[in-house]
This record gives sequence, C-alpha cells and structure tokens, in this order.
Amino acid sequence: MKLYPLFADLKGLPVLVVGGGGVARRKVVALCEAGALVRVGAPQLEPELAAWADDGRIAWLRGAYESAWLDGVWLVVAATDDRELNARIAADAGERRIFANIVDDAALSRFHVPAIVDRSPLTIAISTAGAAPALASRLRETLERVVDHAFGELVRLAQRHRARITGRFVDLAERRGFYGWLHDGPVLSLLRRSRPLDAERALLGALQAPSGAAAKGSVVLVGAGPGHPGLLTLSALRALGEADVILHDQLVSADVLAMARRDAERIDVGKRCGGRHVKQEHTHQLMLMHARAGRRVVRLKGGDPFVFGRGGEELAFLRRHGVDVEIVPGVTAAVACAAFAGIPLTHRDHAQSVCLATAHGKDVADTLSGSVLANARQTLAVYMGVEKLEMLAAQLLAHGRAADTPVALVENGTLPRQRVVAGVLRDLPALAKQHAVATPALLIVGEVAAYAREHTWFGELVDAPKGAMPSVAEEACMEVA
Ligand code: SAH
Repeated sequence: MKLYPLFADLKGLPVLVVGGGGVARRKVVALCEAGALVRVGAPQLEPELAAWADDGRIAWLRGAYESAWLDGVWLVVAATDDRELNARIAADAGERRIFANIVDDAALSRFHVPAIVDRSPLTIAISTAGAAPALASRLRETLERVVDHAFGELVRLAQRHRARITGRFVDLAERRGFYGWLHDGPVLSLLRRSRPLDAERALLGALQAPSGAAAKGSVVLVGAGPGHPGLLTLSALRALGEADVILHDQLVSADVLAMARRDAERIDVGKRCGGRHVKQEHTHQLMLMHARAGRRVVRLKGGDPFVFGRGGEELAFLRRHGVDVEIVPGVTAAVACAAFAGIPLTHRDHAQSVCLATAHGKDVADTLSGSVLANARQTLAVYMGVEKLEMLAAQLLAHGRAADTPVALVENGTLPRQRVVAGVLRDLPALAKQHAVATPALLIVGEVAAYAREHTWFGELVDAPKGAMPSVAEEACMEVA
C-alpha cells in the first residue's frame, strides 16, 4: 500500500468520532487540538469525554450509530471494538465520499493517522501504512530525542523573520547558507538554553552582518559520566553528535567516544600522572584555537565537569576570551558508583548528608577538615584516593571514626570490569593492597557502604570476610526483634 501523505487543516470543520472509550478519547484530543468541531457518537462516554461533552467542548450524539451522523462531516474516525459496525461506518463513509479512519484496520481505512513528533508548528509524521506500528513508535521515540523542543521555537522564530531573511538574502545560495547557519548554529543553542531573546538578537545580528553570518565556534563542556554509555544525558548525546572536535579526558570510555559523530576529530588531552601529560594550559589553548577557527568543540570530561574536573577553570578561561560556552552536567562518579554498587548515599537511618571529597593534593588534611572526617552520620565519597588509602584510614580513625565503619571501594565503576571491594575501615589499606585495587576507584566510607555486601548488582563483589560488622540484613533483623 502506498499512501499519499497529507497534513489537513481541520480548523472549524465538523468531524465525527464513533466510539466513547479511551481510544476514541485520544482521537478526540488530537482533532480538538487541530481546531476541528468534534462530534462523538456513542451510547456511553468514558468520564473525560463525558466532561468535555458537558462543558460543550465536543458534541455528543447519544445512542447507537446511524448513518445520518455522517451528514456534513469532513472525516470520520471509527473507534469502536465492533468490527461489523466499523465496516458499516467505512462503507457509509465511502458512499458519501468522506475520509474514514478505522482504528486498527488499515485495509478499511481511507486515511491513516501517523505517529507524530509534535514540535508545533513543526510536526514530523511517521507511517508504515499500518504494516509495523511498533516500528513507527520506535522511530518516533528516536526522533523525539533528536528533534527537541527548541526546534519548535526555531521554526516560530524563522517564521517571524522570514520576510526579512528573504529580503536580506535575495541570492538563493546565500539564503540557503544563512538557513544552514540558523538551523545548526548559536541560535538553536541559545533556544536550548532558554534564552529566546538572545537567540532573536543573534538572528537579527547575523542579518545585519556585512556578508551573512560568519561561522562562530563554540565550546560545550560535557560530562561524559563514569563510563557506561547509558549514563550519558540526551544533551551530551546531542553535543557529541554535533561536534567537530572532541577534546577528551583519559577517563572517558571508548564506548562513550563511539557515540560521537564519526568524522569528529578526537584529541586525547588526558592528564596522566607519570607518562604523557597534557598541561591544563595546553588544553585551554586547544579549545580556544578550535573555537576561534569556527568549530564546534566538545570538551568531554569524565563524570561531571564541575566535580573535580577543572570545569570551572575552563569555563572562566573561555568566557574571558569571549568564547560561547555551554555546560552539560554528567553523572559524577560518586553518584554512579554508589548506584552500581547498591549503596544509597543517604539513608534515613544511617546518613543525612554526603561529602564529595578528594584525596588529591599534598596533604589530605588540607582538604578534609576534622568535622568532615569525624561525622559518623555523613557518607564520605573520596575521589582520587587509591594511593592515599593508608593515610586516609589513619586520619579517619584519628578523628574518632569507628574501626568497623563500613567501607567500599568501587573500581572502574559502571564499566564492564567493575569491582566492588567491601570491608571495614580498619582493614581498608590491606584490602586494597590484597586485591590490587587500581585507579579509577572511588572510596565510600560510612554506614551505608555496608549495603554493597548485600546489594551490589553489577560487576564483581569482593567481600572481605565478615568480622565484627553485622550485615545490613542482620541489623534489620535485630531492629525487628
Ligand atoms: N569529574 C569526575 C571526577 C574526576 S577526578 C566526576 O565527576 O566523576 C577522577 C576520579 O574520579 C578518579 O580518581 C576516581 O576516584 C573517580 N572516578 C571517575 N570515574 C570513575 C569510575 N568509573 N569508577 C570509579 N571511580 C571513578
């Protein structure tokens, strides 16, 4: 079956929906949104339809179907579960040359209702001519993600300035070039950032520029999350799909990089202790150089750019040099590792606050104050701590933390090779040594860390022999008793 695609203007036109159930309601909603005058014919209406009939939003033809209901309507939707009745409606409509849609019956339908992505005034319609509706919905979901709400606003903006744009770019090729910039550049990005006034200003500015709009580069600081590609945000995916250049950290996993635009240039600016080492200043210069060359730069960082990621420095540097910057948060290691190890970072019974801390730096005492170390009802998540475990444990004990405080080390969190090493504070350095825990690993200290023993659901659990510490389940039992 080959269908002729059609977008119909139903404003002010009478249409008929036969059926009073949930399916009919969905059809009614779409028809009302299009401004049609909807009549619903059915012996009974489901509650919402009944309410709309009461307040006059729709007209209710009460009773059993009769062909006179079709008088004067432009189209009809049959949404009853009576096949015979549906067939009768289709036949009656055919006789009167009225377009009929019979729900779930492609063969009887004169018109089909596509799956849509609604970014009014932009509408994307998808049809498989009734052959594979599930595939149509799958495609719709995909498009929903790619064509976000900013596109609707972009279309409205373009509509408002259309005459001006046509007047400014009489030459067709030039106009096409301008639209290319408009559809793909800073205007869309400003709309996504909820800055419609700036977006409009950018458009007007480009219209006044001497020779059209010069390509303007930009940088997006993107949090790549801890490694599992499923933890990328939709905004991160979009930025990766649009990037010309990607400057990524070493921590960013190959699976995540694989999600980026194929022909994007990828540059590893991973800062390694020892080996090759790209200085922060060099990263700054690279971002600046590519942005100034008009490229869309993605600065891709492990976890979240603003959690021990030097994102703040990069933001300030770029803004100082007049570069347009956008920031996409990512799932930070503490949140991701805890989730993948079944550890609730806060828990009514055990911890009312969380501290994200780093053990990086010469003296941990510089960063971790006594109150942070001593607080037994606070979960401590320590980044970059693998090489400092001995000192960390000693400090915690010195500040009065109990030797049997639960701890968990999550190594390669969310990656296929994730390992969780669980134990108690007293044994922490020995455990790490025994199991050769290596970076990247996140340390979680606090009562909630005991959850890992019972609830790690991803990767491997290395459970230290249970000593003085009761398991969470045992504790729960004791509470009940
Ligand atoms: N911006 C990042 C942190 C960078 S600091 C974020 O928000 O997550 C680097 C430290 O993060 C590592 O030393 C380690 O402690 C932690 N980390 C990052 N990814 C990790 C992972 N997949 N598993 C365990 N720890 C991780």
